[in-house]
Amino acid sequence: MGIDLHNITKTFGTFHAVDNVNLHIRTGELVALLGPSGSGKSTLLRIIAGLERPDMGLELSPEVLFDGVPVADTKVRHRGVGFVFQHYSLFRQMTVFENIAFGLRVRPRATRPTSTEIRKQVGRLLDLIQLQSLAQRYPHQLSGGQRQRVALARALAVEPKVLLLDEPFGALDAQVRLDLRRWLRKLHDEIHVTSVFVTHDQEEALEIADRVIVMNEGKIEQDGSPDEVFHTPATPFVMRFIGSANRFRGRIEQSRAVFGELEIESANLEGSGHDSGSEGEIDLYVRPHEIELRRTPNGIPGVEAVIEHIHQAGPVVRIDLRTHAGDALAVDVAHELFDKQFMLCGNTVFAALRRTRVFVG
Ligand code: ADP
Ligand code: MG
Repeated sequence: MGIDLHNITKTFGTFHAVDNVNLHIRTGELVALLGPSGSGKSTLLRIIAGLERPDMGLELSPEVLFDGVPVADTKVRHRGVGFVFQHYSLFRQMTVFENIAFGLRVRPRATRPTSTEIRKQVGRLLDLIQLQSLAQRYPHQLSGGQRQRVALARALAVEPKVLLLDEPFGALDAQVRLDLRRWLRKLHDEIHVTSVFVTHDQEEALEIADRVIVMNEGKIEQDGSPDEVFHTPATPFVMRFIGSANRFRGRIEQSRAVFGELEIESANLEGSGHDSGSEGEIDLYVRPHEIELRRTPNGIPGVEAVIEHIHQAGPVVRIDLRTHAGDALAVDVAHELFDKQFMLCGNTVFAALRRTRVFVG
């Protein structure tokens, strides 16, 4: 089922939790709402579910459409949504089997499946979440990851048209999170239920989703594929929030961008909001993996900097440097390119900026 959100605003007192959001979610898509804590993700999810109403007003005409049909007057339980929350309290006194069967058992008699049908349906879901052998256990006899899989099966039992997941793996250990993330992605490829996945974890969003909606202060900053939001961030916020970034403050002066001792022809700048004719303040961003440390300059723009710290315990070597202007600079170097001869604390090296992006400051 496709979902459309038009002019959705939600204020609490004078505070804008969601600020004029417009969004289309395609049938069968897995969309991530990604943003820092307090950016309005859960509020938006609750509005889709019908747990919260968007603000009404003369200038506002908010609409939530499911397959093109307004659902403002459709109650939560009739919207066909399945929910999984971070702390989804399974029924403690019920087995895994009974937890999953619950939504089917409480249906009005006319639409309630027979107990044979319920057994079959729960069996299919247990297969799907790969917990066949644990059907008779109680929630306290499961690990956190298993509990969230049961919560998901419980949400899916009533065959929702939309699955809403609010930080479902937020309370789990790092390794379990990684496993469940991949598991959920695979599951979605099998069942294709339209899904909205809320997270503040950018890696999780990039790995799991077909499309990432980056939110900040109740607004959508960018709406794009994981590749797009990572490689071509639309705003400085997205640049900083997704992946790490070094920032240099500078100015455009006579068609040159000047950042302390670093100067770049403004015609060569990649980014948005600047035009090479205008003068003014700009910010230059460089990702740590897009910087090369060299003994000498090599013709591409860069700065001299002193190595302050070297962290080798990780997938790459992270090197912290300080430019002569006093700016901190983080650089990631592949282990096989880490040169112990000259990459030493206290050494001055040339940091060549292989890819830069600018935004008007
Ligand atoms: P997120 O899920 O991105 O962390 P939320 O949507 O939960 O953000 O909240 C967005 C903002 O709205 C937060 O600052 C939060 O404190 C505020 N907020 C959410 N719900 C309420 C409420 N019922 N009353 C008052 N403020 C709220
Ligand atoms: Mg939230």
